[in-house]
Amino acid sequence: MHSIDVTQKFSDLALKRIDADGLVPTPENYELWFVYYSKSNDDLIKAVDFLLEKSGGRISDEQCYGIFQDFLSGQREEKLVSDAGDQIQQTIDDVNVAVFSTKKHVTKYNKSLKVASKKIKSGQNEDDVQGLLDGIMADTEKMIDQHEHLEEMLEYSTRAMEDMRRDLEIARKEAMTDALTGLANRKAFDQEIDRLMKLAQDESEPYTFSMILLDIDHFKKFNDTFGHQVGDQVLKLVARTLKGGVKGRDVVVRYGGEEFVVLLPGTNIQGGLKVAELLRHEVEKKEVINRVTGKSIAKITFSAGVAEYLKNEEQDDFVVRVDNALYKAKGAGRNQVVSALVTD
Ligand code: GH3
Ligand code: MG
Ligand code: MG
Repeated sequence: MHSIDVTQKFSDLALKRIDADGLVPTPENYELWFVYYSKSNDDLIKAVDFLLEKSGGRISDEQCYGIFQDFLSGQREEKLVSDAGDQIQQTIDDVNVAVFSTKKHVTKYNKSLKVASKKIKSGQNEDDVQGLLDGIMADTEKMIDQHEHLEEMLEYSTRAMEDMRRDLEIARKEAMTDALTGLANRKAFDQEIDRLMKLAQDESEPYTFSMILLDIDHFKKFNDTFGHQVGDQVLKLVARTLKGGVKGRDVVVRYGGEEFVVLLPGTNIQGGLKVAELLRHEVEKKEVINRVTGKSIAKITFSAGVAEYLKNEEQDDFVVRVDNALYKAKGAGRNQVVSALVTD
């Protein structure tokens, strides 16, 4: 079969599958099933088959999303990094070849200058000297050409290196970013909390920071009532609202499915509670609008725990404290902020 026909076949299979299983036809679901049918990713096939077997031949949108996150969403950045690596190797090879060849020319040029100098010293006649000078001139021109070539090569490789630097920077940012919301992801969270804990543990200067852990209330209802895509829209709206409600140095993280963390550098518990309350209010004000009818379909609220970091506290203990506070906020009726206990 021609390669376009093959592609068409996988595409048809993917679309049929999405339709037959009643999945939402998102680009992610399409990519997942296309890759599955084209058999181009063994790990993904294994994961899908495992879930299919477990759940009686049909996997849900959520399971598809999980597989997409695990096996496909990181591919772009991996490819950027590996392409940049290949390009760096190629550029280094090219420059090496050019430098080596220039060195060879210089050595040869040096030798012919020495021969000519010897001949002139040994008292050749005028015609012979003219011949020698012509030879030297021709060699000099070749040398100049060679140097110009090397210069071009270096200029080209400088530009190529600059492009690669940019690609790697993009890949680095993507690796730290949650694809759906554009917020910092878990990896970025680990880095930032590590940095803040080091600052707080440094004896030479007093330093404190706080963390808000928030979880959208009854989020499952959004998905069940309006579908996964509206659920995703809600996550994006909350992400935008949180980001817009904090200062530049504060880091908003998508911590899990519908859980978010805000890290507040240089902020004590009173400050943390104030920010959490402000964010709670901002989110509560937002409305999810049905794109077809233009009508408001639901309100969004969240519950949150807030904790100030205790000197020398382990990261896990800190997270457990703030998680317990969040749990209390849920238990007390949701849509509220609870301060973590120091003794939890
Ligand atoms: P609670 O008030 O107790 O937090 O109730 P809840 O329904 O928010 O909590 P629960 O943990 O039972 O459900 C969270 C749901 O979030 C499960 C899943 O359907 C949904 N979810 C998780 N990640 C995503 C995502 O990326 N997109 C969408 N649309 N839904 C997601
Ligand atoms: Mg949750
Ligand atoms: Mg929830």
